[in-house]
Amino acid sequence: MQENAPRSLPVIVITGTPGTGKTTHAQLLAAQSPVPLQHINVSELIKEKMLHDGFDEEWQSYIADEDKVIDELEPLVSAGGGLILDWHMCDAFPERWIDLVVVLQCNHTRLWDRLEARGYPLKKIQENNEAEIMNVVLEEAREAYAEDIIVTLNSEDATELESNVSRIVQWIEEWLKNQEPDSGS
Ligand code: ADP
Repeated sequence: MQENAPRSLPVIVITGTPGTGKTTHAQLLAAQSPVPLQHINVSELIKEKMLHDGFDEEWQSYIADEDKVIDELEPLVSAGGGLILDWHMCDAFPERWIDLVVVLQCNHTRLWDRLEARGYPLKKIQENNEAEIMNVVLEEAREAYAEDIIVTLNSEDATELESNVSRIVQWIEEWLKNQEPDSGS
């Protein structure tokens, strides 16, 4: 396993089935973080920078080219970190990049409503709903990263959103303390 590159600021993945609240959490975290963190909505980046192999009409989504995504993000990670990576495909990132993986979870009935409100086709709602019930993203995270950097948080309502973000802010403060030269780590 490769050692983590030295970073002055952490790289945090916020992941979960589409609709669990990744972007909502990432935006609030970027606003409340004690240090500047850049929120990268990877799905948007894929569209903007054409980091894909075309559009899948059946699933109504872009087919991500993971190698291109990694190449695009590598310079930002190497430049010192300070990133919130917001994407459902959490296992795409090299382990050495990542300091914390937040897996958001949501009651599947509520998730269904959120995806319906988003105008997703039925097939895509069903697939995501099933993925949430089966903990697919959490299992992928567990296969890709050490257990002690993964945290699972419920994202049902505004109270949980706020407490989740406060918890991540606390984690950032601890992380920063541990980077100080006399922290003993
Ligand atoms: P994702 O980025 O995981 O696809 P979003 O952040 O876009 O999910 O959230 C999907 C929808 O669900 C949005 O309308 C958002 O406001 C709502 N939502 C997500 N998380 C919460 C939460 N914890 N409390 C209330 N609404 C939420």
